[in-house]
Amino acid sequence: MTAPLIDPFARPISYLRVSVTDRCDFRCVYCMAENMTFLPKKELLTLEELDRMCSTFIRLGVEKLRITGGEPLVRRDILTFFRGMSRHLDSGALRELTLTTNGSQLRRFADELVACGVRRINVSLDTLDEDKFARVTRWGRLAQVLDGIDAAQRAGLRVKINAVALKGFNEDELFTLQEWCAARDMDLTWIEVMPMGDLGNEDRLDQYWPLRDLRARLAERFTLTDLSERTGGPARYVRLEETGQKIGFITPLTHNFCESCNRVRLTCTGELYMCLGQEDMADLRAPLRASPDDALLEQAIRAAIARKPKGHDFDYSRQKVDGQVSRHMSHTGG
Ligand code: SAM
Ligand code: SF4
Repeated sequence: MTAPLIDPFARPISYLRVSVTDRCDFRCVYCMAENMTFLPKKELLTLEELDRMCSTFIRLGVEKLRITGGEPLVRRDILTFFRGMSRHLDSGALRELTLTTNGSQLRRFADELVACGVRRINVSLDTLDEDKFARVTRWGRLAQVLDGIDAAQRAGLRVKINAVALKGFNEDELFTLQEWCAARDMDLTWIEVMPMGDLGNEDRLDQYWPLRDLRARLAERFTLTDLSERTGGPARYVRLEETGQKIGFITPLTHNFCESCNRVRLTCTGELYMCLGQEDMADLRAPLRASPDDALLEQAIRAAIARKPKGHDFDYSRQKVDGQVSRHMSHTGG
């Protein structure tokens, strides 16, 4: 038996998020600068290397794999990778294969994703207004994403919508988005904007709409019941008693989820980040490339997990962005 991955704070590591590309067909204002420089292609793990990497983690006890990016569905031949991972679903080693996407390519890929064993996906959508959508994504078209969501639901995928809460931008859509999701039987999770990457002239504090404000606004119209269910991640859920709908809040800036953290993140270049909010990482690409068997890689993974920190250091409270990390979400995979 291979010993499972347990970190120094006795947290079993069962969830791996993998960024398969840093590229994207959108340029969301909170995520990338418009003239974003991407990594040279040779830096990226090949699809075969991604397969080896993920398969090793699965052998070491990872049961849930979330594919993200950049936009995972713009990586060429990415379905080959999904097909490869489906063998771990078939064997029962992997319990869930899922992805986070901006939705632009779902029309093309929804059926094949289902065929690969994907059952649930997260689609990021911050607004239902065409002009605002074009403004926040810079390059995106709302109609294409809505069409993608239709295709996903028709293919049988369960869709959860993730919306980044942006001050002065989608505050007025709090109820519209909630009603739209309810009508389509989709869960909705709000994400607090995080201080990551260099965005050019966007001011981070200007974008910050604290979820406690959003929650208070919801409470003016609905009776909220806190749900105890946790996913090991930063999401907290409430139920709107009047409709039965579940709404999630991801507040990565508080420390309320670190103690149950079960996840690590692999970048598209093979760096393993043990915590989203810390700079410490381990290079797994070198040991992967150094030898065709996985012994060195496994050793490097175990050494990295042994360094997983207790928590992160984000803090907006002093009106400056403390604990800011310099890399982009598109690199680490949000
Ligand atoms: N392109 C895909 C998408 O947009 O869903 C996957 C990658 S994207 C980096 C993953 C998630 O991170 C998205 O829901 C996006 O809204 C969120 N995100 C990006 N930058 C963020 C930031 N600075 N703060 C909070 N969430 C952010
Ligand atoms: Fe692309 Fe997703 Fe970042 Fe938007 S949030 S720029 S869709 S990676």
